[in-house]
Amino acid sequence: MGFSKKEYEFLAEIGLGPDNLGGYVNGEWKATGSVISSVNPSSNQMIAKVTEASVQDYEEGMLACNEAAKKWKSIPAPKRGEIVRQIGEALRAKLDVLGRLVSLEMGKILPEGIGEVQEIIDMCDYAVGLSRQLNGSIIPSERPDHMMLEAWNPLGIVGVITAFNFPCAVLGWNACIALVCGNCVVWKGAPTTPLITIAVTKLMAEVFEKNNLPGAIFTSFCGGAEIGQAIAKDTRIALVSFTGSSKVGMMVQQIVIERFGKCLLELSGNNAIIVMDDADIKLAVRSILFAAVGTAGQRCTTCRRLFLHESIYQKVLDQLVGVYKQVKIGDPLEKETLVGPLHTRASRENFEKGISSIKSQGGKILVGGSVIDSDGNFVQPTIVEISPDASVVKEELFGPVLYVMKFKTLEEAIEMNNSVPQGLSSSIFTRRPEAIFKWIGPHGSDCGIVNVNIPTNGAEIGGAFGGEKATGGGREAGSDSWKQYMRRSTCTINYGSELPLAQGISFGS
Ligand code: NAD
Repeated sequence: MGFSKKEYEFLAEIGLGPDNLGGYVNGEWKATGSVISSVNPSSNQMIAKVTEASVQDYEEGMLACNEAAKKWKSIPAPKRGEIVRQIGEALRAKLDVLGRLVSLEMGKILPEGIGEVQEIIDMCDYAVGLSRQLNGSIIPSERPDHMMLEAWNPLGIVGVITAFNFPCAVLGWNACIALVCGNCVVWKGAPTTPLITIAVTKLMAEVFEKNNLPGAIFTSFCGGAEIGQAIAKDTRIALVSFTGSSKVGMMVQQIVIERFGKCLLELSGNNAIIVMDDADIKLAVRSILFAAVGTAGQRCTTCRRLFLHESIYQKVLDQLVGVYKQVKIGDPLEKETLVGPLHTRASRENFEKGISSIKSQGGKILVGGSVIDSDGNFVQPTIVEISPDASVVKEELFGPVLYVMKFKTLEEAIEMNNSVPQGLSSSIFTRRPEAIFKWIGPHGSDCGIVNVNIPTNGAEIGGAFGGEKATGGGREAGSDSWKQYMRRSTCTINYGSELPLAQGISFGS
């Protein structure tokens, strides 16, 4: 069963219908691959059909994109910024309806769906400013009548492969920066969120068309591993930005490295919150709730491990169990809902498997632990008391499951925080300066995101986002992340008539 006529009116506002083409190839909508259904995670009913792009569509799109790259890089950076400004305006005009689509197709609650689109708008604003600040340095030369400087040039084409849980914000982190840096963008969204990929691409495409620029500057494909592999192997793509699981990320990295391409990896997380004995407990409990059950535990930054100081252990746990019991689970588009469904049937099955592994490894379920009997993929937010040595604690179970553990000293808590393969986000709750500075210093958290008195999730775009170890080492969005999307030219210019050599080397006369 599909959508009602009334529901299709909402999709029509963003250019979608019951049947959609999932390839934006050389400025035209074209797709000759398999026909798939986009499914509502709350009911497992079809929303609309999408024809995915085939490898032939990919090849056609890339030929045009490669041509468009020559034109785009010759446009001055602030003028490219103006195009990105217009993309931001186009997204602003459709913020609510696009946010609703994110909520409908991915399953996150509406405020988070709207927040995700807002994040791309913020990235557009940021990138517009950046388009006038792609500055290089002037470096003192050791030789007379010589000057050294750095010039930043576009890479050419940036490939962006994204995951289902942030079906468009991650595109924004990459595309806004890549475009102002002078690169064309090739995007493959997640295979289970094709309507979002198409809707966002349509808005981008309209801006390029309105400005008489080739549509191929932004090329996009709906599809799965086959298109992902084509991007990884494609020597025309200088940088592949991959967001997804550590397992697939590792495979993609190996392929890209083999052809001497660059890779930017944003992979799995296994994030922890430490609550010290002096913490503001009310603040901590609110933060843990948002971090552990927000987006139904399907953020890369979701808090999966909670370390409580032994003196406040029971107090925090009692409060948490109390609030977990009150969390409203349901349709993500309804106002009171705090937790929507998991994204797919497979995620729900994975949750069930995870719970049985937890039990078999001695985990004690304090609240939750079951799937909810319904047509959708709803599960109960779960808290588990478990030993830090259990192997399940080292893995990322992509759902609302929180492992709770006790500690005596800060050193012990930091060691537990750092004892997993992943290294994305981490947070401590304390007011003590010595604990805060130890936490953010060389003997503290080994993660890319190191927070104090805030949740592990909900990063602002101004900072560089990403993680260490099995999270892949990439940094996206703000700070100096833009440098990864450009080629640094180190230039030494001799404006004299002598040829002094570096290090004072004398070579002939
Ligand atoms: P996934 O690894 O299954 O898929 C990610 C993307 O890779 C999808 O577009 C998929 O189609 C594509 N893909 C699959 N096989 C491929 C292959 N062989 N070659 C090239 N591409 C291929 O991940 P998912 O289930 O969509 O997303 C959840 C994971 O993503 C979690 O581990 C989560 O932590 C991670 N994630 C990380 C960040 C971050 O910033 N660190 C952000 C969001 C999600």
